[in-house]
Amino acid sequence: MNLNQQPHMASPYAPPQPGYQMYPQPGYGAPHPTQQYAPYNGHTSLYQQGAPPAGQGRAPPVSGAPPVSASDSYSQYAQGNVQNGPPSVPSQPQRPPVSQSYAPATVHPGTQPTYHQPYEAPTTSVQQITGHMAGMHIGGPAPNLPPSSMSMTPGPPPSMYGAPPTSQPSFPGAPTPPQSAFAGVTPAAPPVSQQSFPTGAPMSQPHYSSVPTSSSQPSMGGPVLQQPPFGAVPPASAQSQFPGMQGPPFANQSMSAPPASQPNHTGAGMPPGPPIGGVQGPPPQPGLQGFHPQQNGAFGQMRPPQSGYAAPYPGQQNFGIQPPPPAAAPPAQKRLDPDSIPSPIQVIEDDKANKGSEPFITGVRGQVPPLVTTTFQVKDQGNASPRFIRCTAYNMPCTSDMAKQSQVPLAAIIKPLATLPPDEGPLHLVDHGEGGPIRCNRCKAYMCPYMQFIEGGRRFQCSFCSCVTDVPPHYFQHLDHTGRRVDCYERPELHLGSYEFLATVDYCKNNKLPQPPAFIFLIDVSYNAVKSGLVAVVCEELKTLLDHLPRESVDEESRIRVGFVTYNKVLHFYNVKSSLAQPQMMVVSDVSEMFVPLLDGFLVSVGESRVVINSLLDQIPEIFADTRETETVFGPVVQAGLEALKAADCAGKLFIFHSSLPIAEAPGKLKNREDKKLVGTDKEKSLFQPQVSFYGNLAKECVAQGCCVDIFLFPNQFVDVTTLSVVACSTGGSVYKYSHFQAQTDRDRFLNDLRRDVQKPMGFDAVMRVRTSTGIRATDFFGSFYMSNTTDVELAGLDSDKTVTVEFRHDDKLSEDTGAFMQCAVLYTSCSGQRRLRVHNLSVSCCTQLADLYRNCETDAVISYFAKHAYRTVLSSPTKNVRDVLVNQCAQILACYRKNCASPSSAGQLILPECMKLLPVYLNCVLKSDVLQPSAELSLDDRAYLRQLVSCMDVAESHVFFYPRLLPLQKLDVEGDALPVAMRDSEERLSRAGLYLLENGLNLFLWVGSAIPQDLLHNVFGTASFSQIDPNMTSLPVLDNPFSKRIREIIESIRAQRSRYMKLMVVKQDDRLEILFKRFLVEDKNSSGGASYVDFLCHMHKEIRQLLS
Ligand SMILES: [Zn+2]
Repeated sequence: MNLNQQPHMASPYAPPQPGYQMYPQPGYGAPHPTQQYAPYNGHTSLYQQGAPPAGQGRAPPVSGAPPVSASDSYSQYAQGNVQNGPPSVPSQPQRPPVSQSYAPATVHPGTQPTYHQPYEAPTTSVQQITGHMAGMHIGGPAPNLPPSSMSMTPGPPPSMYGAPPTSQPSFPGAPTPPQSAFAGVTPAAPPVSQQSFPTGAPMSQPHYSSVPTSSSQPSMGGPVLQQPPFGAVPPASAQSQFPGMQGPPFANQSMSAPPASQPNHTGAGMPPGPPIGGVQGPPPQPGLQGFHPQQNGAFGQMRPPQSGYAAPYPGQQNFGIQPPPPAAAPPAQKRLDPDSIPSPIQVIEDDKANKGSEPFITGVRGQVPPLVTTTFQVKDQGNASPRFIRCTAYNMPCTSDMAKQSQVPLAAIIKPLATLPPDEGPLHLVDHGEGGPIRCNRCKAYMCPYMQFIEGGRRFQCSFCSCVTDVPPHYFQHLDHTGRRVDCYERPELHLGSYEFLATVDYCKNNKLPQPPAFIFLIDVSYNAVKSGLVAVVCEELKTLLDHLPRESVDEESRIRVGFVTYNKVLHFYNVKSSLAQPQMMVVSDVSEMFVPLLDGFLVSVGESRVVINSLLDQIPEIFADTRETETVFGPVVQAGLEALKAADCAGKLFIFHSSLPIAEAPGKLKNREDKKLVGTDKEKSLFQPQVSFYGNLAKECVAQGCCVDIFLFPNQFVDVTTLSVVACSTGGSVYKYSHFQAQTDRDRFLNDLRRDVQKPMGFDAVMRVRTSTGIRATDFFGSFYMSNTTDVELAGLDSDKTVTVEFRHDDKLSEDTGAFMQCAVLYTSCSGQRRLRVHNLSVSCCTQLADLYRNCETDAVISYFAKHAYRTVLSSPTKNVRDVLVNQCAQILACYRKNCASPSSAGQLILPECMKLLPVYLNCVLKSDVLQPSAELSLDDRAYLRQLVSCMDVAESHVFFYPRLLPLQKLDVEGDALPVAMRDSEERLSRAGLYLLENGLNLFLWVGSAIPQDLLHNVFGTASFSQIDPNMTSLPVLDNPFSKRIREIIESIRAQRSRYMKLMVVKQDDRLEILFKRFLVEDKNSSGGASYVDFLCHMHKEIRQLLS
């Protein structure tokens, strides 16, 4: 069925169009200042009273845009496509496959639906929340634990942070003498800082006399003092910095300045690096530099094998033949010291010390922003904040040959609606009047700081395609002596990296301003959903949550309308019209071709229908309290929501609360196909592919309607996340999963997720387009969306957490002078029904020297890209191949650096670029992640769930997901509010007398050592002995002491940082749950064959040497 032929019902609810306001921030509708807009909205008064006048008058300079190859399903976007149309270079190469592929439509023979009976709901009140308490269902059977005592005992007593004393360099301001090993670097060597490591033969004894330490050196080679060839600006005021990124015409005005003059780089305690060439080594590590290791291991130089693993070097088997040890390094039975290899914690802490104290000012082209783990403030001076866009490389190679040679991926990770801290947002809303936003005539890029005004301001040249466009008379302004418009700083689009435009009716479907969106709640009321307490919990929560739907700050209440459906193998629609005394239920029992049995009274305003809605939410748990229906449908549920939105002619979001595999006879019926025997085989990929094409086709229809689908799953067994999540993953939706849900223990987690999901800022019916300057173009996209052509990323919904990753490839040469530009424009409908365009601009530098590329990469972004790419490739390749390709690509990246950028040194030394020295450790985390190398007890559903989660993670989320944060709590400063410095994720760094918090954005563990001191035990748990700690607790007891208070504060602050609520799991040392916890100690070997960091680094070194020889 083609929705384009669907006659649209006139909606009885259409409220007046709102005046525009800024995007709402999360939270319960706190008011927001609105004065920001005042200076920018020349035409504001025209529009405040209602809808912009329908598109008469000046047509946007766009109407001649070439037609796009929009699919039929998006034909109603014809006008929008023109507006947001492609560059006039019409021949786009074939788009590489995107994340979701769709099989051709299957035909479902339609039958006429039978009718349904209105039905007055009973009013009995039997509270049926079942309080079934079960044990924790985590991780399946717990294998016997390996003895853990060995791993806890070697070496000296752990220091405050659990690591041996030698591993604790002082972070900030550490002296950074040049690394002696490289003192004789030749002048010809590129000015790249690097780090070298002891020879990588797995069993060889490192030469300790020349061992560079693991401490990161924020030397001139790193991003800190990086000086892009053209991007740096004079150390002048913020205003005068701006021309630095104005693009070609200004390029010659903005030559480089001394690096230290960059205001955000005068980090505390950072000695300026030498001007050139000093291939600086890391700072000395206490107890390591120049020492021979203590033979008794007292300083941790030689570590015993980890507990549970018989052979100290099983990695050898994984990695094949080990390279011959270099002559200078006689083989020895000693392990490479983990403290001598690059430490993530050191890098994170150095970045905090160097970049956390000054704001990050975006006016400088090609600057690498602070790491995602650093807290920093952003000042938008012409490039989008890193909160919106992060790149893998901020200095792109000029040619595709260079890019190929380096193998460094060129990608941007974009979070278009990211929530900004109060002092950085909200974005300005710009109104260019009835003609709509000013754009380039040819490529349709939106007015931005990179456009160059010429001919006294009468025309402007596009920095993306060079086309010259007339400035409309109403937008004309004179230029100053530098060629800049005199109103530059009064207009956000002329001096900021990110802003919004008010879109005109030309940007709307069918040239009609949109209706406010709707939220539809569809609740599974089958036996399992009722019994687990889910139905009661959802209904109770909705009574209050509906007061907090997203709204514009000027609106008294949200304009979002709501509707309700319950279902098992039939669907129940509810009429909650305000004039009714009681809600009415209508049952649709023929689910073969879903329709909505009522139009008037299904979607209502919460304010108007409050009484009826509350009555309904009270009654639903009672109506189904005694249900014996165990079967469910799923396809018809999505269809019902979609049809309701179509009938109301609006976009919206479905919230589906679903418990089981939909095996009832209906479109989209599924069967249990979980087959663990396929794991690790060539057929494994089929497990990641949907088992039917039905949901792919349904998703296309949803996208065309702007119907975003969020799915909350509560399975007790296999539910086929892969297939069910297709609709969410194609519509910008989210999937949540609460296995073995029990209201009592999982309520907090579910409700926190639901509250956040319902309230978070989002846009509806969105289309995103990324334009780039000549030389590169966006070729591939990752995330939760749908694409019907090669350029438009269609998002039925786009919320503030969703990220789209865009890969770029060269199609021509780039220029060092001009750099490269990208502009991400997202057209969307706000929660009040206003059509807007959000624009993010970013300029990066371009280089002809590989060394410049390697100095300006962001490893966390590279890893995020690699993970997303790999997780998509498992759809088509065996996981082993995916892992091999990843290892090979990283080896090539590092080998290219070694060959072209590093100073000469012996082949036995592993040399890593400073800003990529964590590539091996992080890559190893991706390789042994549950999707690519699952543990035996992990279900297919778990892997499918993680796979789709990672695809739309931002860099901060993917970073902590792959390298969890481990915080020592036993020596907490209860007075201060700083978090303790994190530790490396390795069991040998845990102290038996310690207490540690570990989180990865999804899981939160509190690990308790068996020798935890009495006072700590008492303060935190209120018990007298280790054995009395209840491992089933999901929250810590509230005790009246500063320690208890501080730890609970830390847990809350960590939860607040993440987009999903993390349930606390208490893991006692040697307890059953520890096996699960240990999987997150990612520097160690794991039970499914994942290598330790040390072993993997040795393997990587071997691969690099092979590539070089
Ligand atoms: Zn253009």
